[in-house]
Amino acid sequence: MKLLIWDFDGTLAHRPSMWSGTLLHVLGEVHPGHQVKPEHLRPWLQTGFRWHAPEDEYPVLPAHAWWGELHPVFEQAYQAAGLDATVARRLAGEVQRHYTDPQHWEVYPDTGTTLEHLSVLGWRHVILTNHVPEFRELLKALGLSGHFLQVFNSAETGFEKPHPRAFRLVLESLGEAKQVCMIGDNIRADVQGARAVGLPAVLVRKNDPAAQWQCTDLSSLPGQLDAIFAD
Ligand SMILES: [Mg+2]
Repeated sequence: MKLLIWDFDGTLAHRPSMWSGTLLHVLGEVHPGHQVKPEHLRPWLQTGFRWHAPEDEYPVLPAHAWWGELHPVFEQAYQAAGLDATVARRLAGEVQRHYTDPQHWEVYPDTGTTLEHLSVLGWRHVILTNHVPEFRELLKALGLSGHFLQVFNSAETGFEKPHPRAFRLVLESLGEAKQVCMIGDNIRADVQGARAVGLPAVLVRKNDPAAQWQCTDLSSLPGQLDAIFAD
């Protein structure tokens, strides 16, 4: 089997403005005239998520408890932007609903065609993502589930990329794969994480001199894979 391990966010789909955008959206529902800007929130969202400390192993929790770990992070961000503690707590509890709403996510235009084209070329696909517990539902709602043999989500495994265990779980469960490659937009989590367990990786939608293989969109991926596995 020829196997491609795909990152999700920033590779196959994205949520424009990510976490700061989600918090602003929640705030806008309650206080439509607010003056809070993304830059007021963003500095407070750079730590506190599981994937900010990928060297650790995490307990697998039900969704409400997983999100509960993040409530202090969201509350702190809202309070730093000038909201009082009671309002901040209430808004923090609404972030989950907004973040996981498929209507706020966009699949990149080249995602479906590239997955199908690579399938025709004999590649099978799995996802390896650092994500929220509701990821499978989100993937299904975006119409992408059918492309993938399996989904490996950090909220279900307890390991965040680039932890080597996150990658080894994929390889162990699909042990018969002959050719394997990681595809992702994050040099550290995807490319260097894959390399650390001996896998080639293609950086997509980004340029970085640290990446041996890269492409700015998915259309040139088949050619890159030909080059990687030329021998
Ligand atoms: Mg990504």
